[in-house]
Amino acid sequence: MKGAAKAAANDASESQEMTHAWLFTGFGREEAALAFAASLLCRDVGCGACADCTTVLAGSHGDLELIKTDGLSIKIDDVRELVQRASWSPSTANYRVVILESAERLTDSAANALLKAIEEPGLRTVWILCAPSDVDVIGTIRSRVRVLAFVAPASLSVTTSAEILKLPFEIKDVAGAFAAAAKIVELAKSGAEAVAEELNDEEIRKAKEAWGQQGSKLTAGGSKAIKELEKGQKSRQTRMVHDTLDTILLDIAVKYRDQLVGAGSDAEKTKIIAKIDAVMDARARLARNAAPLLTLEALMVSLRAGV
Ligand SMILES: [Zn+2]
Repeated sequence: MKGAAKAAANDASESQEMTHAWLFTGFGREEAALAFAASLLCRDVGCGACADCTTVLAGSHGDLELIKTDGLSIKIDDVRELVQRASWSPSTANYRVVILESAERLTDSAANALLKAIEEPGLRTVWILCAPSDVDVIGTIRSRVRVLAFVAPASLSVTTSAEILKLPFEIKDVAGAFAAAAKIVELAKSGAEAVAEELNDEEIRKAKEAWGQQGSKLTAGGSKAIKELEKGQKSRQTRMVHDTLDTILLDIAVKYRDQLVGAGSDAEKTKIIAKIDAVMDARARLARNAAPLLTLEALMVSLRAGV
């Protein structure tokens, strides 16, 4: 990824290495897409500190189109409009970067409307699609993008995520629902913890260095700064658990959507739609800071078989 960004920074028009259409998959794909966008729009290959980097990471950079979708599908009209905006010349940076989150929710006609744009995006436009896995987008898209798969942190491996996604479909009774909820929350927590701990230690080490720690003694100002930092790290970890759970729930909703396509009777369809609604409702509740375990328990009870 760095190589591509560097090549892009050096010379867009002559670079063989630069790809203009990407598909990011796996754990942390959306964060990775933003980091990649920052590396393209920053004058210093993604320094992380300049105005370009900070506005990209906040999703508000003028040459970034960050498309998040709350609905279950991305429709052709949305894509047509987006393709048009993507073709504008960049205003301040070398590129216009389009990040399309939840590309798995493109309807087939919307995906087709996107084909030409990602095939010939123009030298100054870079598309980054994000989806849980490469099989979640149709083959015609897949064959036109370069796929970058992100591996989950050790404690939330790909196998584990596959295992998590199976859970809701194997629930037979209320006890099973509670067990599934506990397992999902536990895995999200330990996954977030593993990532957070690594970040935390490094930040504390740097902060102590900056405050000139000698031996075990810190200045008064330094101790206060470290306390503030630790507070920030705690809330970040909570946010990471929420983000992980949200990703899991979205992936579960997509599984139900796939089921819907193959559903036979209307009664069966109605049941599946109710389950999708329940998943989306749980996401909304988590976004309003509802307790994760309670929310997941209620959800899993309504997802159990035979309901
Ligand atoms: Zn920068």
